[in-house]
Amino acid sequence: GALLAQMLVDPLGLILRWYDELQIAQVSLARLVGIREIEPEPADERVRPEGRDVRAADVRFGYLAGADVLHDVCLDVRPGTRVALVGPSGAGKSTLGRLLAGIYAPRTGTVTLGGAELARMPAERVRRHVALVNQEHHVFVGSLRDNLLLARTDADDGDLWSALAAVDADGWARALEKGLETEVGSGGLALTPAQAQQIALARLVLADPHTLILDEATSLLDPRAARHLERSLAKVLEGRTVVAIAHRLHTAHDADVIVVTENGRVSEQGSHDELVAAGGAYAALWRSWHR
Ligand code: ADP
Ligand code: MG
Repeated sequence: GALLAQMLVDPLGLILRWYDELQIAQVSLARLVGIREIEPEPADERVRPEGRDVRAADVRFGYLAGADVLHDVCLDVRPGTRVALVGPSGAGKSTLGRLLAGIYAPRTGTVTLGGAELARMPAERVRRHVALVNQEHHVFVGSLRDNLLLARTDADDGDLWSALAAVDADGWARALEKGLETEVGSGGLALTPAQAQQIALARLVLADPHTLILDEATSLLDPRAARHLERSLAKVLEGRTVVAIAHRLHTAHDADVIVVTENGRVSEQGSHDELVAAGGAYAALWRSWHR
């Protein structure tokens, strides 16, 4: 029923969802736990951010040699702002999100946090400042406690329970006979997709990064679970800088800056009103969706 309903209200969303699911198959374990796979220069303990702005400068990146999917991307994410990335499927939004979170490093150009290159910073330091939230699998084999401690190894049980409460997951978690000792992941307790997402969000609360990159965090869920999760997510987003990758224009239109990507390039950026006034691609999309 839910699937059919979604096809009727949001056929494009459904297609994009399938597209993204195909890509999940390509995700490696290293990426799941947020470890960088490409390290052009060794990380340096001395490289520290001085400030909180995340900036991409002349970034080129490709997954395969000779096939760049981002070309000369420049982007400045000011602390405390909401930035929305919009654009057609395959434009490079998710890829840019991974670079802004330091999961991949640019082939040329730089991604910096507070002036320091993410690629040169120890991965753990990057994760304390910037985190990527997406729909890739969020639960690992181990106990619920192990799954939460991944975010902050020194957290005590009190911290873990307040993180679960912060994302409205304490109700079902307290009902578990073995509580935090409950084995989850394959072979353990089967969690719903919404519960798995809540664990990912609880990890965020524990890690407490000031900047979040959101890539379609709720699109694999049924509408009711998605609404529930969106409330928890809204709490987690409060007070943080957010770069949201949006497939739906209505989620983008309130953003401080809307960045339009096409074919691996940033084609327009500005507020909703500025982009509508400019009369470019965003304005055309907006008109066609709101007639
Ligand atoms: P969007 O999020 O805007 O739909 P993506 O960043 O996912 O775009 O994709 C941009 C381009 O990079 C596409 O051509 C896509 O096929 C390719 N791509 C994305 N992820 C991978 C990957 N893991 N390996 C190889 N190519 C990829
Ligand atoms: Mg994407």
